[in-house]
Amino acid sequence: MTDYSFLSDRLAALHAELAGTGCRLVAVSKTHPNEAIQAAYDAGQRLFGENKAQEMTAKAEALPQDIEWHAIGHLQTNKVKYLAPFVSLVHAVDSPRLLQEINKRAANEDRVIPCLLQIHIAKEEAKFGFDESELLDYLQSDPLGELPNVKISGLMGMATNTENEALIRAEFKGLRYLFDRLKSDLSLTELSMGMSGDYRLALEEGSTLVRVGSAIFGQRNYPTT
Ligand SMILES: *Cc1c(COP(=O)(O)O)cnc(C)c1O
Repeated sequence: MTDYSFLSDRLAALHAELAGTGCRLVAVSKTHPNEAIQAAYDAGQRLFGENKAQEMTAKAEALPQDIEWHAIGHLQTNKVKYLAPFVSLVHAVDSPRLLQEINKRAANEDRVIPCLLQIHIAKEEAKFGFDESELLDYLQSDPLGELPNVKISGLMGMATNTENEALIRAEFKGLRYLFDRLKSDLSLTELSMGMSGDYRLALEEGSTLVRVGSAIFGQRNYPTT
């Protein structure tokens, strides 16, 4: 049995950093076993993030029912049905088609699923996410009236993977600025930004959800994308 007693200190330190900021900690448990999640749960953590639908579903079945499961990474439309019964927030909605699929599956489950729209903020070549102008065009088309089973709760972004803190900060600031422009019209409350390497910067720039994996659970030892 692995000894996971280190988790409670790491979680306590992170929660101490977040205290009073209004920002919540998503413990990113992808690739880590149920025992690790249970140990974090026993230390009081209730909010966990996973990026693979089947892995998250298997964990949700095996672990305590009051865990809040967040889908954090790119989600394929054909996987939405697995998550629809229980997911509490989808962080990375990166296309109108995905939002439509979440709406459809949520309707089947008689739920409204909270979602964040992923905005492409990094200098790196875009894989996923809306560009700012794309997002504004999409919102202009007033899609949400036809999607009663999703609720857009906010925005999510990932900064460039770089040591350049000024660049990371500028990217987070840009996302925060967009969030501030849209939040009253769309009743947005969540701004998901920051991971192990940059959550402190994200916090300073107004993040409400930091997604922290390796700084809690240690390095992941197999590729996850
Ligand atoms: C894996 C992952 C994280 C956590 O990454 P760490 O660097 O381990 O903290 C955060 N967000 C997303 C979308 C991820 O896929």
